[in-house]
Amino acid sequence: MTAETRAKKIEKIIGEMYPDASIQLDHSNAFELLVATILSAQCTDKRVNEVTKRIFPKYNTPDKLASLGEANLIPLIKDCGLYKTKSRNIIKTSEILATKYNNEVPSTREDLESLPGVGRKTCNVVLANAFGIPAFPVDTHVFRVAHRLGLSDSKTPEKVEEDLCNLFEPENWIKLHHQMIIHGRTLCKVQKPLCDKCDLKDLCLYKQTD
Ligand code: SF4
Repeated sequence: MTAETRAKKIEKIIGEMYPDASIQLDHSNAFELLVATILSAQCTDKRVNEVTKRIFPKYNTPDKLASLGEANLIPLIKDCGLYKTKSRNIIKTSEILATKYNNEVPSTREDLESLPGVGRKTCNVVLANAFGIPAFPVDTHVFRVAHRLGLSDSKTPEKVEEDLCNLFEPENWIKLHHQMIIHGRTLCKVQKPLCDKCDLKDLCLYKQTD
């Protein structure tokens, strides 16, 4: 079976397993999504949602959040970890958006990646989920699932992203990345993947060699 044929089969099955997969970070606009994604580094989506519930009702635009200031943001986001760096990046990014981008989040990779705290993964999350622009964010779940299913053997998230983008059609990247994340959280767990319950087991390299 060619890599493309395997990929097609995996895409079909994972699509049937998680037909309603979508982003788990609560947000109601592109700016909220950007902030939530910055906060989600090394933190669960559930915890980020608890934290942003305290911030977004009052500070849901760049100028409003910038006015809060770094020191006042820290206690609000402390539960998310790396709070000093995250607070600094969020306030700086908010200031830049308020002054340079007319209080909006830009929709190009170049502009997004120029913002403090916005790396490739965060940029991809925003492009895909705020603007519907095809992108394949690779987080720890996507990275692990891609390796176990033999969709990539690359060593860096950037290379795994490239491999996945080469295997799948751009119009399916966003849905697939949500499906791989949910799969990684629910069945294809880090320690003990629940392979007996997984419809992908006949195609899975990890299961076959485990
Ligand atoms: S068979 Fe196991 S290792 Fe393979 S994708 Fe399913 S849960 Fe993950």
